[in-house]
Amino acid sequence: MAEAALATRETAVDDPWHNAQRQFDAAADLLELDGGVRAFLREAERQLIVDFPVKMDDGSIRMFEGYRVQHNLARGPAKGGIRYHPQVTLNEIKALAMWMTWKCAAAGLPFGGAKGGVICDPKRLSRGELERLTRRYAAEISVLIGPERDIPAPDVNTTPQVMAWIMDTVSMSAGYSIPAAVTGKPLSVGGSQGRNEATGRGVSIVARRVCSRLGRDPRDLRVAVQGFGNAGSVAARLMAEGGFRIHAVSDTRGAVWSDTPLDMAALAAHKQRTGTVAGFPDGRPISNAELLEAPVDVLVPAALENQITAENAARIRAALVLEAANGPTTPDADEILSRRGATVVPDIIANAGGVIVSYFEWVQDLQSFFWEEAEINDRLARIITTAFDTAWTAAEHLHVPLRLGAYTVAVQRVAEATADRGIYP
Ligand code: NAD
Repeated sequence: MAEAALATRETAVDDPWHNAQRQFDAAADLLELDGGVRAFLREAERQLIVDFPVKMDDGSIRMFEGYRVQHNLARGPAKGGIRYHPQVTLNEIKALAMWMTWKCAAAGLPFGGAKGGVICDPKRLSRGELERLTRRYAAEISVLIGPERDIPAPDVNTTPQVMAWIMDTVSMSAGYSIPAAVTGKPLSVGGSQGRNEATGRGVSIVARRVCSRLGRDPRDLRVAVQGFGNAGSVAARLMAEGGFRIHAVSDTRGAVWSDTPLDMAALAAHKQRTGTVAGFPDGRPISNAELLEAPVDVLVPAALENQITAENAARIRAALVLEAANGPTTPDADEILSRRGATVVPDIIANAGGVIVSYFEWVQDLQSFFWEEAEINDRLARIITTAFDTAWTAAEHLHVPLRLGAYTVAVQRVAEATADRGIYP
């Protein structure tokens, strides 16, 4: 049954790896990329599959499967998060790794792209089981990771605590502390000020920037946010502080709509109390499908891939889509939105705040010298604004949608690094 479900997902037209390659192909066509380099950048360089045992609380031993994929290393060590989710697949992790390559290049960071994942449902594991799973997975992928080689970070369902366990596992096997082995750690073990909020903060900075480009005032714009985790909840709060009117939010347990802007502090308190945004008393329940198609000006998908598809794209009413999640819009949906004149700020720009501050964390760990939060936020704003502006200018110059503009900048940079280094041997 599980195998059948997996096979269906991997062969479906919305297979994330297929979509990532399609997005790359569009940029490679436009750049008229050399055939050899194109073939190289189209594949993931290294794919590690690990099947490992974990001792459960009841004394039994359960097997888990995990992955670590390095898509490309031309511009520096690989960088990318680790995802814990029951529906993780190798193809999903390959796509996420490729998107990390372009994201780091678009932001001008000296990193290649990677991603990792474990097929599991962390909500059904005890804290002890989660720690043992994390440590064993970290040990299994230790052949690839390290501060000069590949630096993991949080993604869906992984937290600063999970990063601390990975840092400790790597450090224990070396015999000394290696804080730069992973980012998104707690401050107590070499984490960075501002990292927890960085992805959402980046989304809010980009939101204001795109509005000024489009000549729109945030105070006139109604917003729906899908997913209320690390990326979505911070993006919603900071966008509300910047004047946007947040009318709808959702998580896996449900969605809520309010005719007047939602009170973000009350919503955060409700989520803190109940573990979900569903059932928020100052709004009315709607379905997750309704949230995506809600009468808003701005849609912020901040959950998982393949949420805006050929099936629902024509019903999306937002004129602006800010991709806080990775890969939320399929290429077919992109074309539908583009024909309608909607602006899509692609994931590799919109959610780059996370990896930008991860870069700062890595730099601080390597030099054992830590910066203040104001400096972090200021540098984040400068880098993500430059990345956005560069993509915008490229898109205007080439008369293409913003995603393709961003991709041409990123792919060109990785192709140039590949050409300058030469093909080994
Ligand atoms: P998270 O685990 O903190 O939160 C995910 C949220 O999405 C949760 O609220 C969950 O309930 C919700 N969700 C999941 N499926 C949903 C569905 N079908 N409908 C509605 N809500 C749903 O994860 P996160 O770190 O916030 O990551 C979210 C997205 O942002 C992912 O695509 C991730 O790759 C991307 N991202 C995260 C970071 C980061 O620094 N954490 C950086 C860049 C990109």
